[in-house]
Amino acid sequence: MSVLVVGSVALDSVETPFGKADNVLGGSGTFFSASASHLAPVQLVGVVGDDYPMAQLEPLRARGVDMAGLEQTAGQSFRWRGRYRHDLNSAETLETHLGVFSHFSPKIPAQFRSAPFVFLANIDPRLQLDVLRQVERPTLVACDTMNFWIESRRPDLLELIKHVDLITLNDGEARQLTDCTNLVKAARWIMERGPSIVIIKKGEHGAFLFKERSIFFAPAYPLEDVFDPTGAGDSFAGGFMGYVARTGDLSDDNLRRAVVYGSAMGSFAVERFSIQRLLEIGPADIAARVADFKRLVAFEEERSA
Ligand code: AMP
Repeated sequence: MSVLVVGSVALDSVETPFGKADNVLGGSGTFFSASASHLAPVQLVGVVGDDYPMAQLEPLRARGVDMAGLEQTAGQSFRWRGRYRHDLNSAETLETHLGVFSHFSPKIPAQFRSAPFVFLANIDPRLQLDVLRQVERPTLVACDTMNFWIESRRPDLLELIKHVDLITLNDGEARQLTDCTNLVKAARWIMERGPSIVIIKKGEHGAFLFKERSIFFAPAYPLEDVFDPTGAGDSFAGGFMGYVARTGDLSDDNLRRAVVYGSAMGSFAVERFSIQRLLEIGPADIAARVADFKRLVAFEEERSA
């Protein structure tokens, strides 16, 4: 089954302690698509300006990402400039230029409207709401957001979460949105306002899945070299939603497996700049990393005498 994603398709300029990259392919929709397309067919909706290097998106098309919903219009593409210092868990946003996103009105192509799985990647919550009005009764709608929108579009974001089944946030964003320092309370606060499933990511410290009274935790893959954390969250979401779409199974056990797929895909994304690593890997790499996760957390209880 396919996943529809609406998100930013950007040009990123990133500085990490290990290097710099200027105007490379980025954006929440781009990372999500590069990740999810390893597991399920992806339909991407977004907008780029006339300055966008469209040829660089070809590898995504070749991976089966349907770009019928990616518009190119006159103007500048969305640009994000960020920096990571030694704490690779939190990006410092230096510049955000919405460009053509500031007057974007998403038009979901007719053939995408019946997508069973919808991911509203990090963009203006007004656009996320606009997309929801155009899709036909999906099985699961998930959304993501970030501090930028929590600060500037809080009422729209609170309206949006009334209509989604699942939200992914990092720990800082969950605290900012809910004003709760405790993440279990933060998840409850959110669940009382709409989503029945909440995923709170904690960067290199793993991710929590909250659903009703059940809580699951998966560690992050203990990589020796994290090169550029940009896109980890979107790639996590791509792995999670891609796995759910591939299996079509929303049971608790399967959602737990989906979190592990999300963690695996996020761990690949951070090994290189942009979507480079996500374009190199194949099914065997993903299977090996998922198996590593299983070993990472497996232990035997002591046998009673
Ligand atoms: P993450 O997975 O959280 O690291 O997301 C990184 C991506 O988010 C980058 O490629 C940026 O282009 C994109 N991004 C940054 N700020 C925004 C924003 N305000 N709206 C949409 N996308 C953004």
